[in-house]
Amino acid sequence: MDRIQKSDTLKDKITSRLPAKRHPSIIIYDIPNDTTDEEIQASLKANTGIEKDLKLRFKLRGRKQETSHWIMEAPAEEFHKIIPVEKISVNWEIHNIKEFYHIQRCNNCHEYGHPAAKCTATRPFCGYCAQRHPTSKCRTWYPRCINCEHSNATKGTRYRTDHPASSPNCSSYKKEIQTYKNTRDY
Ligand SMILES: [Zn+2]
Ligand SMILES: [Zn+2]
Ligand SMILES: [Zn+2]
Repeated sequence: MDRIQKSDTLKDKITSRLPAKRHPSIIIYDIPNDTTDEEIQASLKANTGIEKDLKLRFKLRGRKQETSHWIMEAPAEEFHKIIPVEKISVNWEIHNIKEFYHIQRCNNCHEYGHPAAKCTATRPFCGYCAQRHPTSKCRTWYPRCINCEHSNATKGTRYRTDHPASSPNCSSYKKEIQTYKNTRDY
């Protein structure tokens, strides 16, 4: 009896050690910088029917002057109400909403998982043609994806490589998204 209890406790411990999946995130685009959190929360509720406040994770600089993209955490229930709506109006302006993937791609070598500030490549690789020059200095018309070429050479994948590293259709990028999604609770 004692033994069974002990092994039960052990099992509980092991189960509770599994990494908990985290909430997915959403991004709301180009919010004017004077917008308050209360205004965003109220718009989200009015436009999508959610009832809870969402937690703001951080803001990124917007595409328009004096605006920011808001990245917010959305528990599964709220997430599935928000994503199909695609747009919300905040103070009579329409803003696009999408899922936000917390995925880092290095601006220097284009590898996933680290920022350029932590890159170990001494000279930059081109994000357009995979050669050894900064992406801004590229002079070719023929894209080659450094990540898909690398994956084909080292992991035996057969990804297409005729696209820039930043392409949304890049197979390496899609694989990153899949890996990311496995860490979230949808
Ligand atoms: Zn890098
Ligand atoms: Zn190039
Ligand atoms: Zn690619």
